[in-house]
Amino acid sequence: MTQARIPQDDKCNGWYQLLDKPASARRLNSCEDVDWLVIGAGFTGLAAARRVAEIRPGERVMVLDALRVGQGASGRNTGFVIDLPHKRDLEGNNVTRKQKLLALNRAAVSDLGELVTLHGIDCGWSLAGKYQGAVGERGLEYLDHFETLLKNFNYPYRRLERDALEPILGTRHYAAAIFTDNTALMQPAALVRGLAKTLPNNTELFEHTPVVDLSHSGGQWCATTPEGKIRATNLLLGSNIYSQEFGFLKHRVLPVMTFASMTRVLTDKEMALFPTGPHHFGLTPADHAGTTVRLTPDRRLIIRNQYRFVPRYHDDLAERLRIRQGHRDSFDIRYPTLSHVPFIATWGGACGLSRNYTAFFGKVGENAWMSGVHQSVGAARGTISGKLMAELATGQNSSQLADMLAVSGTPALNPPQPFLSLGVKARMKHAAWASRAEL
Ligand SMILES: Cc1cc2nc3c(=O)[nH]c(=O)nc-3n(C[C@H](O)[C@H](O)[C@H](O)COP(=O)(O)OP(=O)(O)OC[C@H]3O[C@@H](n4cnc5c(N)ncnc54)[C@H](O)[C@@H]3O)c2cc1C
Repeated sequence: MTQARIPQDDKCNGWYQLLDKPASARRLNSCEDVDWLVIGAGFTGLAAARRVAEIRPGERVMVLDALRVGQGASGRNTGFVIDLPHKRDLEGNNVTRKQKLLALNRAAVSDLGELVTLHGIDCGWSLAGKYQGAVGERGLEYLDHFETLLKNFNYPYRRLERDALEPILGTRHYAAAIFTDNTALMQPAALVRGLAKTLPNNTELFEHTPVVDLSHSGGQWCATTPEGKIRATNLLLGSNIYSQEFGFLKHRVLPVMTFASMTRVLTDKEMALFPTGPHHFGLTPADHAGTTVRLTPDRRLIIRNQYRFVPRYHDDLAERLRIRQGHRDSFDIRYPTLSHVPFIATWGGACGLSRNYTAFFGKVGENAWMSGVHQSVGAARGTISGKLMAELATGQNSSQLADMLAVSGTPALNPPQPFLSLGVKARMKHAAWASRAEL
C-alpha cells in the first residue's frame, strides 16, 4: 500500500491562533460502517456533510479531517466570500454562464449568512463588499479592464479615486479602486469551526484522522486511517487538491501556496488613519499578482501576497522570513506611519488551481463524488458546490444543481515533471516581477 501524502499545514495560522483553544480532537480509533464518508472538513466537505445529513436524516454521515477544523486552507484564507465570477470567467463571452456563476456564488453568500445568524457563529460576518485596488499603471490597466467587464455584465459598482479612498483605506497608496457590494467578509477559522460545531446530529466528525489509504471493493469504500478503518457505501470528497493522492484528478491539479501576515490590534491613535471609512474593509488587487489587504472588525491589518508552487503541498518554512519581509515591505509602503506595528503571525496555505482555470464538480467513481480545485475562490464555490455535491449524490433535481453541472468542467492535464515545475515557477516569477509595483 502506498500511503497517501497528507496535509502538513504549518502551525502559524493567525486566524486560528486568535480562537479559544479547542477541546481535544476526537480521533477515529475503531472500525466503523457508515452510509456516507466525507473526507475533508473545509468549506466543501462541511457543506456536503450538512446537506447529505439533512436529506438523509436516518443515515450515518462521517467526516474525517487530517487536521483540526480551521487549520486547513478554509481556515487560513483572507476571508472574502465573493459573489462575482472569477476574473477568467467574467472575461468569457457566455453571459448565461456568467449569470449562473453569479447566482451560485450569491447562493453561497446567502447560505453562509443564514447559518451564521441561525447558529450565532461569532466570525465577524459582514456584507461589507470589496474594493478592487490599483496602485500604478499596470494595476490601472487591469482595473479599467475590470470596469469594462462589470459594465458589459451590467453589474453595479462604484469607482473611487485616490482622494476618496484615503480615508477608507487609510493610505494614499492606491490610485483608484472599484467597489462592489455583494461580498461578505469573515474570520475564516472561526467560521469553519462554527460550521463544524453545528452539523446535524447524524453527522460525526473526527479530526487529526488522516485517510492514508482509500480503496473500493464489493460495492464499499474502505478508508484506512492510522488507528481505524471506515467502510462506507458512499464517498464525498472535500479533500480538494489532496484528492489526487487517491487517484482523483491525478496530474490535473496545480497546488499553489499563498501567504498572509496579520498585525496586532491597532490602537485608537493608529485607527485615526481611517477617519471616515467603515472600520473594516477588504481590498483585492486589480492585478491578480498584487496584494490583498484587510482591516478586520477587531482592528488588525492583514496583508496577503506571493505564490509558490508546492507539488508536495507545503513549503520550506525557512522561506517564511523572506515571505514575511515581503509582507513587511508591502505593509510599510501602504502604512508608513504604522511601520512600528508588528505582525503577530505569518502563514501559508495551499489551494488548487488548474491550467485551464476550470474547477471540478461531479461523479468520480462508483458512489463517489468530488468538488474541488476552486481556483483560489473556494469560500463561495466550495460552500455551494459542497451542498450541491450532496444533492447530486442523493439524486435530487434542482435548477441550482443543473447550473453547477453546467459551469463545471475538467481541469486540464499537466505536462510531466520536471517541465511542470519549471513552467509554473517561471510563470510565477515573471508575474511577480511584472507586478512588483502592485505588491
Ligand atoms: C492565504 C490564502 C488566502 C485565500 N483567500 C481566499 C479568499 O479570501 N476567498 C476565497 O474564496 N478563497 C480564498 N483562498 C482559497 C480558499 O481558502 C480555498 O479555495 C478553500 O479553502 C477550498 O476549500 P475546500 O473545502 O475545497 O478545501 P480545503 O480548505 O483545502 O479543505 C480540504 C480539507 O481536506 C483535508 N484533507 C485533505 N486530505 C486529507 C486526508 N487524506 N485525510 C483527511 N483529511 C484530508 C484537509 O486537511 C483540509 O481540511 C485563500 C487561500 C489562502 C491559502
